[in-house]
Amino acid sequence: MQVFGLLGNPVTHSLSPPMHEAAYAELDLDARYVTFEPAPEALEAAICGAQALGIAGLNVTIPFKQDVLELVEPDDLAARIGAVNTIDFSGETPTGHNTDAIGAVRALRDHDVALDGTAVVVGAGGAGRAIAFGLADEGMTVRIANRTEQKAHDLADAVPNATGHGLGDLDKLLADASVLVNATSVGMESDETPVPKAALHDELAVLDAVYRPLETRLLRDARAVGATTVDGAWMLLYQGVEAFERWTGNDAPVSVMNIALRERL
Ligand code: NAP
Repeated sequence: MQVFGLLGNPVTHSLSPPMHEAAYAELDLDARYVTFEPAPEALEAAICGAQALGIAGLNVTIPFKQDVLELVEPDDLAARIGAVNTIDFSGETPTGHNTDAIGAVRALRDHDVALDGTAVVVGAGGAGRAIAFGLADEGMTVRIANRTEQKAHDLADAVPNATGHGLGDLDKLLADASVLVNATSVGMESDETPVPKAALHDELAVLDAVYRPLETRLLRDARAVGATTVDGAWMLLYQGVEAFERWTGNDAPVSVMNIALRERL
């Protein structure tokens, strides 16, 4: 049996176990997906222990995504983003990957969104970093807007074709943009939005990384002005799909994983 899992703290409410286990059942794979909550000071021991025990792959979430970078061999994208959310133990040294970036890209592609032109990414935390690199690697010009403006400038310095901004100019930043991504936590478990409705327009595709609730105020506002909307569960789904495909070498049963995820949201 192959063992996969999630390393984080806390991980109690994670949707990854049912999503991955639904895929194993669908493809008849002899595999399990379990959660681990090591103390922060035990992270290195946890990675070494996982390798020694023959664990095949781990997802990594808060608060370990950055610290784990030092403990594995990151690929180019994970190194540039500065965070790892997927570890592959199949080689001699564990390798680190970041599937959040491609998760956002695939979520947008799945909704027939053209990834050219200009994207506005609101937020410069972990999700914002990954998404900004992901969209820039697709060839988009990226405008990063963040409450703490300096963080947007620092991130824009690292991302190709990117500029950094505060939240004050969102209407101007969005006027000629084709993609908007909310990568802040605003809207999570609350009816708030980081983007004024007046700044939205019908030429936009709007991805909200927030997935609790699925229908955020931003997505409601976006739909009301005729924009294309993509909820955060699509990004969560595709980061899991990417990890599954890397670990198992199989095409993921995407619709089965999507149903397992959405049943629990
Ligand atoms: P993080 O690293 O803590 O970053 C939080 C971001 O939100 C920062 O840019 C922060 O701005 C901004 N922010 C927080 N409160 C704000 C407020 N009141 N007004 C304006 N901006 C505010 O968190 P993260 O890991 O990037 O996660 C961000 C969101 O993405 C969460 O809701 C998370 O659940 C979601 N997420 C979803 C997926 C998915 O697969 N769908 C994956 C990863 C994350 P400052 O820099 O100014 O503090």
